[in-house]
Amino acid sequence: MTSQGIVGEFLSLKSETDADLLTMQCGDFYEFFADDAELVGEELDLKVSQKSSHGSSYPMAGVPLDDLTPYLKALVERGYRVAVADQFEDDSGGHYREVTRVVTPGTLLETTDDDARYIAAVVSDDAGTEAGVGLAFADVTTGRFFVTEAEDADAAHSELYRFAPVEILPGPTVRSDDEFLRRLREGTDASLSLFEAEAFAPGRSKHVVREQFGRETLESVGLESDLAVRAAGGVLRYVEETGAGVLQSMTRLQTYETRDHLELDATTQRNLELTETMHGERKGTLVDAIDHTVTSPGGRLLREWVTRPRRDTEELRRRLDCVEALAAEALARERVRDALDGAYDLERLAARAASGSADASDLLAVRDTLAVLPELAEAIEGSRLADSPLADVVARPDREAAADVREELEAALAEDPPKTVTQGGLFKRGYDDELDELIDRHESAEEWIDTLAEREKRQHGLSHVTVDRNKTDGYYIQVGKSVADRVPEHYREIKTLKNSKRFVTEELEEKERTILRLEETRGDVEYDLFCELRERVAARAELLQDVGRTLAEVDVLASLAVHAAGNDWTRPTLSPSGPLRIDAGRHPVVERTTEFVPNDLHMDEERGFLIVTGPNMSGKSTYMRQVALIVLLAQVGSFVPARDAEIGLVDGIYTRVGALDELAQGRSTFMVEMQELSNILHSATEESLVILDEVGRGTATYDGISIAWAATEYLHNEVRAKTLFATHYHELTSLADHLERVANVHVAAEERDGDVTFLRTVEEGPTDRSYGIHVAELAGVPGPVVGRADEVLEKLREEKAIEAKGSGRSGPVQAVFDLSSGQFAAANGDSESATAGDGGRTPSREGSPSNGSAEGSSAGGRTASGDAAVGEERKTGETMDPEMEAILDELESTDVNQTSPLELMQRVQEWQDRLGGDGA
Ligand code: ADP
Ligand code: MG
Repeated sequence: MTSQGIVGEFLSLKSETDADLLTMQCGDFYEFFADDAELVGEELDLKVSQKSSHGSSYPMAGVPLDDLTPYLKALVERGYRVAVADQFEDDSGGHYREVTRVVTPGTLLETTDDDARYIAAVVSDDAGTEAGVGLAFADVTTGRFFVTEAEDADAAHSELYRFAPVEILPGPTVRSDDEFLRRLREGTDASLSLFEAEAFAPGRSKHVVREQFGRETLESVGLESDLAVRAAGGVLRYVEETGAGVLQSMTRLQTYETRDHLELDATTQRNLELTETMHGERKGTLVDAIDHTVTSPGGRLLREWVTRPRRDTEELRRRLDCVEALAAEALARERVRDALDGAYDLERLAARAASGSADASDLLAVRDTLAVLPELAEAIEGSRLADSPLADVVARPDREAAADVREELEAALAEDPPKTVTQGGLFKRGYDDELDELIDRHESAEEWIDTLAEREKRQHGLSHVTVDRNKTDGYYIQVGKSVADRVPEHYREIKTLKNSKRFVTEELEEKERTILRLEETRGDVEYDLFCELRERVAARAELLQDVGRTLAEVDVLASLAVHAAGNDWTRPTLSPSGPLRIDAGRHPVVERTTEFVPNDLHMDEERGFLIVTGPNMSGKSTYMRQVALIVLLAQVGSFVPARDAEIGLVDGIYTRVGALDELAQGRSTFMVEMQELSNILHSATEESLVILDEVGRGTATYDGISIAWAATEYLHNEVRAKTLFATHYHELTSLADHLERVANVHVAAEERDGDVTFLRTVEEGPTDRSYGIHVAELAGVPGPVVGRADEVLEKLREEKAIEAKGSGRSGPVQAVFDLSSGQFAAANGDSESATAGDGGRTPSREGSPSNGSAEGSSAGGRTASGDAAVGEERKTGETMDPEMEAILDELESTDVNQTSPLELMQRVQEWQDRLGGDGA
């Protein structure tokens, strides 16, 4: 075929697929042409050459047939969908090519990554994503398949975040839902693939699901949601279409109700850094801290458990019983873990068998992993673990069936099989009579060859004779130059080398033909036998998955036990919805790297809302996260980092970290903060745990306080969720006087000899002061500034107003920033002219003495009755100095709430300097 022809064929195949890239088999290579070649060259550092023909020239990049997989993997992991066209022979001996599969992120079987690789479909109907969302999640590498219907878009996003799919198929209506797609893009790294709308059609989907999982599936798993069925159908069609060939490993459709699990919205999962830190890393996450699993399926299951805590007391007690038994029996536990150490990823192996890509060593891995099961059972049943529910876990899979598969593989496969499955050498003797006979003949022919040299030496009195084989010459007899002229007549010379000559004989050629024939037959026979064996293994995919999941579960339980035993964790007492009491609790991640000061928590019917105050950096956020994580761990079925804990099970954990913290990371806006607060106020229930960390901080002070105040009242009165609210708004602490279930706690700090020590202990009552100024002093901020800051603080406390003072060239000037109104006023030593911007909101504090220490008594003017306030912001009585004006502008534009105390002090000092004052 001409190159024009090949490129033409390439371009026409490319136009028929909607994949991003096409690679086409050309003999021993897979080639990319034209734009695809350029792109692949760029992405993968492949050499791009020019293929010229008929005056045109095309870029071309290729990889050898056997090397395609790693390149595919690399491309797919970069988010490309790659179509693969294979070359076939037609009847007349010519070649044609056809796309045999499309490799996409969600259908890439050849992964080396331990994580699950879910492909998800998202389906809504004409009413949109607020009226229910059908979700299906399939992991082609393990055969797992989950479907559910989420209540609305929010719930759907929580699920999508939990599964963290690598590829998402938006259904017909979803793909025009811009808001939903925007959140998808922001919340996941998945690539979005558009798939034919018909695949999600109700009738067709139902049919496809039944074909895959059996006619009665929908009824037997109680899947009633049309949307969920449509999502499932879409995924199945897509997997089939892309030709990954793994449908057989999807043996089981699992439905679940999102409400069986703890509600953990996407923000909460991120805030609590369960599987990924805020910076997207694995190190420093909860899972990273507690993962001691010895197998990759165990690691996967642990992540699943952590992101899907449960409310089912019975299930949690079962897990806790297992963990307790394993934690107590160190010896048995180590035996269990030793046994597990020999296990491979059975679910993935089953999927490889099903797709026909498993080789002999994969099947050996199946054999070895199946052998772990009886070992594990013995470790458990032969110890005190036998009395724990762990015994039920290992009794779950059909052990006899597993033993049968293992014995079959044991009897079949040779110990050290080659990687290729087409060239023989895969099977043991005694497995198949026909094969045995072939092997006998093959071996005796080879033995004839092996002994030929000796025979020739003896018969013909030759020395320096060897018999060997290579690709070009086939078998030959090689004779040293010195004796080459003494070879017998029937030797036919085929080659002369420097020190030797090569000969063949008719007899040798005859044997060679025999051996080649035998090799070919043996390869064919073994390949057929291997495919049959692989298919029988694939047919047991469900059994293998059962065993795999059992091993994974034991691995996770043992891992939880290892962590509990090694870190002095304790078994929590669970109650369906009782109080929350934690004695000497610790943060499971922070305690690993820090000398951690344990803290208590007590919440119950009468005390359901804690306002947490304390200086910056004292440990408020840590304390609240620690509480959330302890509750979460208890609902995973884990021990918890505490001396003692009584956990009333919650139905959801909601956290919101104030926009300020997140703003710094460029993640959030005040709008998002409020949307999430709104979500919490809508979704949380009396049985939920709500963690609010500095919420309201992203806006002006009094806005923020008002929102925080109102949200507190609402959570307390209406929602009645167990809530912890850390705030720097000291004002909120007075809520405890008004709302019966609200209590104050604070993280203590202590000042000794001018040193601030964070005690990290959480104590009853509100905090009494801010240590910011002391920190400033410690940092070496000049004495006068520190002194003045103390004064300002004092004044703020009493009057909620800041006076900027100074003596400009035009005489002494005062500016009063009124926190009550958010306005400010300036005066030139004339107290009368300093006015509040909004008299209506000025707290009436008649009789409150103005601070005598400050020059003048501007505040006195401000305390005049509300109607005295005129809306004039700046009234100086005299023309103002431009420098003064500039300073006042700066003062006005300084957002006290967005500026650190230290910076604030520095600015004040700068203003004083510019005003020519000495600040004393
Ligand atoms: P805040 O939210 O009050 O500003 P953080 O919770 O962010 O404070 O904690 C500040 C620092 O103190 C963190 O580095 C944290 O690791 C440490 N810390 C917090 N609580 C404790 C504790 N109980 N024991 C030891 N270190 C702690
Ligand atoms: Mg904090």
